[in-house]
Amino acid sequence: MFNLRRKWVMQAAAAALIVFLSLFLSACAKNPVTGEEQLVFMSEPQEITMGANYYPQVIQLNNGTPPEDPQLQAYVSDVGQRLASLSHRPHLPWQFTVVDSSQVNAFALPGGKICITRGLIAKMNSEDELAGVLGHEIGHVTARHAVSAYTRQVLMAGAMLGLAIALSDSDYAPAALAAAGVAGGLMMLSYSRDQERQSDELGYEYMTKAGYNPMGMVKTFELFQKMQKSEPGVVEGMLSSHPLPSERIHAAEQRALASPLSSQPFKTAQFSRSLARQKRLAPAYAQLDKANALARKKQWSQAVVHYKKAIAMFPKESMFYSRLAVAQMKQDQDAMALKNAKQGARLSEDGFYPNLILGMVANANRKYSLAVDAHRKAAAVMPDHVINNFFLAYAYDKTGPRYQAVTYYRKVKSAAPNSQYGQIAAKRLSQLGYN
Ligand SMILES: [Zn+2]
Repeated sequence: MFNLRRKWVMQAAAAALIVFLSLFLSACAKNPVTGEEQLVFMSEPQEITMGANYYPQVIQLNNGTPPEDPQLQAYVSDVGQRLASLSHRPHLPWQFTVVDSSQVNAFALPGGKICITRGLIAKMNSEDELAGVLGHEIGHVTARHAVSAYTRQVLMAGAMLGLAIALSDSDYAPAALAAAGVAGGLMMLSYSRDQERQSDELGYEYMTKAGYNPMGMVKTFELFQKMQKSEPGVVEGMLSSHPLPSERIHAAEQRALASPLSSQPFKTAQFSRSLARQKRLAPAYAQLDKANALARKKQWSQAVVHYKKAIAMFPKESMFYSRLAVAQMKQDQDAMALKNAKQGARLSEDGFYPNLILGMVANANRKYSLAVDAHRKAAAVMPDHVINNFFLAYAYDKTGPRYQAVTYYRKVKSAAPNSQYGQIAAKRLSQLGYN
């Protein structure tokens, strides 16, 4: 048995060394917000390329976009683009996407790529609240916080791969995100209190320039604070990446009250129209959340009941079927699991999770060429996902060609040598006569 703690310390030290070395390799540049010279780890073109490359993966890690709701996407994009055009970096290729996650969260990738979850937007009541959250995330990009957090965090994600990875606990646990490589690291970007303060100020600046009531930002802070008590698991990702001490809420409130815009009514008409579909579907997603909570406690048969209720309410959401398939597989109902996993993948053909799950269920049913197809589709979206690559190697190992099995076992072994997957891959490679 290897010593987990020691490996962890060694990898953290290696990561620190890389950060240290990268300090020497990076250059100084003017901060777009403050105009001060600062140490940066990548040029603006590099920043833009990195954001563009990983945005599709980060969206997939959050289950893609809510099915059949182009109106919502267009609306959020309009609000975001208007704020970004008034920001310090209007020339960036800004994009704003609502992702299909029940977590309450919003995050920014370097280069102007922003996500807000279905879970968060469904809890809001006005465009001013939305503008507050988007303005704050835009601030992390314009002040280049996302770039510096990236350098720190992505290296940490690499270090974290030393720990065993479990799929079933939470898709947002650090170890599960580490399984996703760089994209997972980008989702974990977290900021200092000073950076949060600066983003709040920038968000305030952008939203008031656009004519929004700055009390909208205060309202979302109060929502997070309330949820921290009532549903801590749901808002955990948001609060660990964006710390929210009460002084932050107080400062936002003082700032807002000083603005004449704080007495104007909140903009609700277009917001309500654009959110109508999500508000209508909320009961179906509430069943999903209930089922997932039961699944985390391994109460699989009860989870199945609620996944089925969710499907009855909204039969077009692939996630409902894919999660149902996992719960059935855990109860050794392999044939039923396969049927539902197939339906999940059919509803979301390029989706990462539906294909990952179909592949795993197909492997359990000994349908190895189906498993190869599904894991390959998932790998097309997320080429560095340790768990997907492991099961792809396994399926190739059963059907051939052998060189493909070797290729993917090697990927797993080098990306995560100390995880359970890396260790099984190494063992199998040596049985096959490779290293
Ligand atoms: Zn923040």
